[in-house]
Amino acid sequence: MAIHKVLVFLAHPDDTDAYCPNFLAALVKAGKEIYLCSFTRGEHGLGGNRDPDKEKFRGSRLGRIRTQELVSAAAFIGIPASRLHFLDIEDSTVPNNKLIAHRHVDAIIHGINPDLVMMPEFAHGYYKHPDHVYAGMIAFLAARHYKPGIKVIFYHSMRSNYFFPVASTAFGRRAVEFHKSQTDFFRYLYPLLVNVEQVVNGIFHVQGYVRAEGLRVSSTKLPQYPGFKARIVARIFAKLAIIPKTKNV
Ligand SMILES: [Zn+2]
Repeated sequence: MAIHKVLVFLAHPDDTDAYCPNFLAALVKAGKEIYLCSFTRGEHGLGGNRDPDKEKFRGSRLGRIRTQELVSAAAFIGIPASRLHFLDIEDSTVPNNKLIAHRHVDAIIHGINPDLVMMPEFAHGYYKHPDHVYAGMIAFLAARHYKPGIKVIFYHSMRSNYFFPVASTAFGRRAVEFHKSQTDFFRYLYPLLVNVEQVVNGIFHVQGYVRAEGLRVSSTKLPQYPGFKARIVARIFAKLAIIPKTKNV
């Protein structure tokens, strides 16, 4: 079956611009219809911010700013605002709102009727933000319920099996620059998370390229168990206590 409509789930408005902007732009260029659906508007995304007045922005004000940032970044990639959706789950509460999130995701999937669904990696992810893990899980379960056997693609995976070559960092850099409220995150944490992954992917998997965006292509027919590497990473994260333990999950 030809793939025409691609529905991409994000936990926060900057996720796809951080992890797979070049791949999404290539899909747009190939004439695919791309839909973005963000679980949250990132209302609490101040972690990396060094502005002393940052607390004034927390909440719906930051949510509005980040919504607009995604609208601009999506337009840059080639995705019109009419194909952007928000589930309006409060930032950092996806695990606690998993049932309502699942209902929303179910409705979105049936409304759009995609041929392919993309989502954050949850079984083999190195990025353990609970919103990402649960967004990935919820999107996967909803996709399986919608069409058993539909193809899915996970981003920020440790088991990537598809590598999209990145010729220059310029495009990805411009995509993240739209997320101005996250500038400090992209200046300090982003190079560590994304650049290292891209360079490892490029050097080891794509001949002639130094960088590549890694994706894990799978199917809702296949079980998604955390692998050995993913369990080690989960332990390290738990020891470092970077991510607060989510209650009520
Ligand atoms: Zn995120």
